[in-house]
Amino acid sequence: MHTVTLIPGDGIGPEITEVAKRCVEATGVKIKWEVREAGEAAIEKYGTPLPQETIESIKRNKVAWKGPITTPIGEGFRSVNVSLRKLLNLYVCLRPYKFYKGVRSNFSQVDLVVVRENTEDLYAGIEFEQGREDTKKLIEFIKEVKGEKIREDSGISIKPISIEGSRRIVKAAFEYALKNGRKKVTAVHKANIMKFSDGLFLKVAREVASFYEGKIEFEDRLVDNMCMQLVQKPQNYDVLVLPNLYGDIISDLCAGLVGGLGVAPGANIGDEIAVFEPTHGSAPKYKGMNRVNPTGMILSGVMMLRHLGEKEAADRLEKALSQVIEEGKKVTYDFKSTPDDPTAAGTTEMGEAIIEKLLQF
Ligand code: NAD
Repeated sequence: MHTVTLIPGDGIGPEITEVAKRCVEATGVKIKWEVREAGEAAIEKYGTPLPQETIESIKRNKVAWKGPITTPIGEGFRSVNVSLRKLLNLYVCLRPYKFYKGVRSNFSQVDLVVVRENTEDLYAGIEFEQGREDTKKLIEFIKEVKGEKIREDSGISIKPISIEGSRRIVKAAFEYALKNGRKKVTAVHKANIMKFSDGLFLKVAREVASFYEGKIEFEDRLVDNMCMQLVQKPQNYDVLVLPNLYGDIISDLCAGLVGGLGVAPGANIGDEIAVFEPTHGSAPKYKGMNRVNPTGMILSGVMMLRHLGEKEAADRLEKALSQVIEEGKKVTYDFKSTPDDPTAAGTTEMGEAIIEKLLQF
């Protein structure tokens, strides 16, 4: 019996979580769900979007499965997702992008995994606001030390990239490749321009890669070139490892290659704890309508089952889901050529079709 912290989340979160939970349970794997709150519902009850008992539960169980959570705008609350990553040191953002027959996409041979660094880079949140005293001091300091003139009316964001941060993310990419029968890791960067940040990332990536020589192939690409390559010949790539910002952008590009955010799963992983989730947000306008696609949430459940060592159950659930998508009969509106197609199934009906398939294997 596994114990997993289950966070239904906001907006469409509770409905996709319920359907995906039923699919995971239908595999026969025994999981005790510790349901905890985060997001808007938690603010009403606890006065914070991330209550202590939710954090404690994740720390205790080491595995969590969450629906999307709304980030309130301008109310002084930090994003729950960012807070979780920081608090639990979830430094790997892992996102597989695989094409399933029946999905609307211009590509059919995509099977990529994005391994994005989650804690450093321009996302570290070290920012200097235009016009402030500390910003003026920084501009003055840079002029003194570097002899470089930055315009006085500038705002500045800092891009820290460390040896330790780079080493652990590249190692995570190679270990994932080894464990999952992947052939190649590609490091993505802009080291020709940002020599001391991206250059360091690349240098460390090469060092780490040397330990896997003969087992996993290694190459690197400039991020701009990578974008072009991915839309021209995505089949040439396998596992991509990237610093935070490029990882964010390339992730959405890859989601576009496989049919959009509705079908893409993800996980945030640290040395001890892993949190699985779909990559899309809480889509508030669809809340409670039983309309949205549960695929991203179900596939994040597939990733979670693999993480729990339940490989056979994970493979069966993925197979059932892919067959339902390929048949195209019980699928949600976003698989159809027009969003108002009357033959589209609801979230629950799609889930039921997946369970029916699963029980046939
Ligand atoms: P979103 O992903 O919630 O929705 C954008 C659009 O994508 C929707 O209007 C819908 O058309 C489509 N969509 C998303 N999920 C779908 C699904 N499962 N099936 C079918 N269509 C789907 O993005 P947003 O509107 O920018 O964000 C809404 C809220 O979600 C914000 O508060 C944002 O901060 C939050 N968010 C949370 C997470 C997370 O919890 N990991 C991730 C992204 C955004």
